[in-house]
Amino acid sequence: MIVCETVSSMKKARRQMAGRVGCVPTMGYLHEGHLTLLSRARQENDHVVATIFVNPTQFGPHEDLASYPRNPQRDLAMLEGEGIDAVFMPSPEEMYPAGYATYINVEGLTDRLEGASRPGHFRGVATVVAKLFNTVEPHRAYFGQKDAQQLLVIKRMAADLDMNVQVLAVPTVREPDGLAMSSRNTHLSPQERQAATVLYRALTLARELWRSGERDAERLRRQIIELIQKEPLASIDYVSVADPDSLEELAHINSTALVSMAVRIGRTRLIDNTLLGGQSAAHP
Ligand code: AMP
Repeated sequence: MIVCETVSSMKKARRQMAGRVGCVPTMGYLHEGHLTLLSRARQENDHVVATIFVNPTQFGPHEDLASYPRNPQRDLAMLEGEGIDAVFMPSPEEMYPAGYATYINVEGLTDRLEGASRPGHFRGVATVVAKLFNTVEPHRAYFGQKDAQQLLVIKRMAADLDMNVQVLAVPTVREPDGLAMSSRNTHLSPQERQAATVLYRALTLARELWRSGERDAERLRRQIIELIQKEPLASIDYVSVADPDSLEELAHINSTALVSMAVRIGRTRLIDNTLLGGQSAAHP
């Protein structure tokens, strides 16, 4: 496995790869969710490149950039075990050298949900992913449905900018009690870890209500909010029942709806989502 810390060394390693190349961008502190993306990439391509970069431009000034969990040595050992060909692990200075001035804005989609709660977040995400694509030049790139809005934004960007990459969605990997795996779960105290199951319980309630015929989006939102409010350690950032492609909030569910939420458990902000009915761009 080749570990590349510079754009030029990654481009050089890329030139040695024949056939199809799959890429899995991550912020490291790898878990089973990341490994599932990597194993999909392994199955579908001749070579796999993982990237590990905690991207400063996607964190707001009061967010958790400094405390974001990191363990590059453990990550590299895990990637070696997965049979990954190359890891691109640049420094912030390598990605954003002095004088750096170019950013990508995906309009519309990024005004809502995570974009509304975290101004500038998707500008950072789109910019870094475009840079990673330019360096790694993958045929396919794999993203998790846990970050459903991110998937939509990356798909939009790749289509709009005529990028030669297929953006693929991988289902959310969960702990046995339903909590979506996330590097940030490591911040949870044992009591908070227990409380964090409220996100999955809320999504399960939404699915049950939908199955029993509920199609009024506002009633659905209200019941989800009531369930979360019963959890003393949880505070809601948003609860959304939206069109899965445009992310516009729905009044009535005609065919499909993306139920998504951001909830703080203590100081840790967690997100999760589920698709009700059918398929969507992020849930093909
Ligand atoms: P991150 O390192 O958190 O930025 O995640 C890197 C990639 O892994 C993103 O495409 C995420 O959507 C995906 N991912 C993170 N957690 C999960 C999970 N529990 N299941 C599936 N994919 C995930």
